[in-house]
Amino acid sequence: MIFHFLILGKEKIIKNTDDIEVAERKSLKNKRKFEFKVYFLFYPLLILPLLILLIKDDNIAKLLLFTKSNNSEKDERILGHLPYKEALNESLIEIQPDILVHKEMYSSLLKMKKDAERDGVYLVLLSGFRSIKLQNQIFYSLKSIRNQEASERARVSAPPGYSEHSTGFAIDFGDAYERSTDFEQSFENTNAFKWLKKNAARYHFKLSFDKKQSSVDYEPWHWRYEGSIEALKIFESSNRKAL
Ligand SMILES: [Zn+2]
Repeated sequence: MIFHFLILGKEKIIKNTDDIEVAERKSLKNKRKFEFKVYFLFYPLLILPLLILLIKDDNIAKLLLFTKSNNSEKDERILGHLPYKEALNESLIEIQPDILVHKEMYSSLLKMKKDAERDGVYLVLLSGFRSIKLQNQIFYSLKSIRNQEASERARVSAPPGYSEHSTGFAIDFGDAYERSTDFEQSFENTNAFKWLKKNAARYHFKLSFDKKQSSVDYEPWHWRYEGSIEALKIFESSNRKAL
């Protein structure tokens, strides 16, 4: 009897344990469902204030906007060149026969040229404003003369509509004593280039295509003016890209 009772008791205990296990499993499942619902409802409430804080933070907002604008500018480039509008006729002035420049650059450029002469350096102005029509001729005629593909030509000359020269704020320099270096990278060895590198910033001129650029070749002769608000606005994208 005692043995039977023990067996029954054991069975009962086993049965009870089974019941509890099933019940526990069920309640666990229900508990998880409940937790999921709670998270689902409360997550947006937790994330929203965080998002508002992030957007309200000036630095983070700037960072977000900066990334966004960077992406859109990336699409505007053609063969490494940014698009530029053509300067209006009334904003141009002749600085020497056949060379026009933007009126806002005129006096700074003349002063720089004169000051260089005082130091024994004679800057030659090779090319200033170029219309999109002229840039078109340069780009396509030289491309075919040199039997070059557009991407090769774009390393040394911008496609029409993408040249800083069209703005009137770009200027190509030569050295009066070393004309063989005109439009050549060897211009960097001339006294004119050395003088420009040391002094041009004082007159608000900046080298456009330095050695760090990967898509466009180094052009030691090509400088741009950034001494007016209009010029700064025009070259803002380019400067932001270079950061
Ligand atoms: Zn140039």
